[in-house]
Amino acid sequence: MTSASMFTEEQEKFAVDQSKFLDEDCNEGICPACGRKSLRTYAYHTENRVRKSVVTYMWCFSCRKMKTWLGADAIGVAFSDPLGNYSLAERKEMESDIEAFLHRLDQLWSSGELPQKKLH
Ligand SMILES: [Zn+2]
Repeated sequence: MTSASMFTEEQEKFAVDQSKFLDEDCNEGICPACGRKSLRTYAYHTENRVRKSVVTYMWCFSCRKMKTWLGADAIGVAFSDPLGNYSLAERKEMESDIEAFLHRLDQLWSSGELPQKKLH
């Protein structure tokens, strides 16, 4: 298996435009690196800052290119989180091994707990 590595800057922009996060019809975008329709997104809210923020992971199931970033809560809606019971410390621990973390997200994808859905 190819190990996870970052998208190039150019691919990143395309990847963000391609994100199907919370899109009900289609949840995987086209990967700018390999062209396959397997670009996945996972995000969670974090509150260890003054402002409410969102940590986003975007990765390709096929070629393992990825991008992660912390941003302001631009999504503005509540959404499901299968890892929502973990504390920030536990998340940090989990995310310290990025390969294992992405593998876990893929398993959640296979079991149907991901992609995330809007909460009403
Ligand atoms: Zn790819």
